[in-house]
Amino acid sequence: MQENFSPLSRRAFLRQAALTAGALLGAAAIAGCGGGGTQTTSTASGYAPNLSQFTPNYASEIALDHWPTLPVRVYFANDVTVIPKDGVPTQVNSLIRTGFDRWPAATGGVVGYVVVTDPAQADITITIKTIPDPVGLSETGKTSVRTGVGGELQLALMEIYVWPDITNAELTQGLLATATHEFGHALGIAGHSSGPGDEMYLLHEPGQDVLLSARDINTIKTLYYFLF
Ligand SMILES: [Zn+2]
Repeated sequence: MQENFSPLSRRAFLRQAALTAGALLGAAAIAGCGGGGTQTTSTASGYAPNLSQFTPNYASEIALDHWPTLPVRVYFANDVTVIPKDGVPTQVNSLIRTGFDRWPAATGGVVGYVVVTDPAQADITITIKTIPDPVGLSETGKTSVRTGVGGELQLALMEIYVWPDITNAELTQGLLATATHEFGHALGIAGHSSGPGDEMYLLHEPGQDVLLSARDINTIKTLYYFLF
């Protein structure tokens, strides 16, 4: 069995708005967020999405992984209560779930998840980590996946980051964008959109949320065409 277990989805975090777009993209590349993801291809599973079934989308820009069955089982390894320097104590798990919930909400519940309390039952494990205060471009999350033949997902590990000087906007808005974005990777979007308006674009403003675009929704429907 072929296995790929590769980190694929570092979400860059824009702290310095003065940087030009070109500089940002260069810095992001240095940070290693190429978004190449897994490239496993096989016809063994009969998985053959039609890239023009749901448009507009960016399915041609990414590798297409998928879970063989949904809903996926999600396990939260920890929870953290964060006190932003200008806000009130906030539990991170509930913020993460608010981000995750956007995918089922946008797909009529088809692309959904359930939370499990036994880590052995988990498809996707989420860990919240505290990192040093970001300087310049930084990652706010990372998702690694393992796939088998035909791009079938077997396991995903997600990290969501918080830091000591986090602001209320970074926590309650930016983290929503990060959670939504990383869940997109965990669901099988193995790469990044080239569209700055898309959730799965590489960069986001630190204190701003990013909602799913029509392109994001059509791309996830393309991955799970067999359920629509
Ligand atoms: Zn990413």
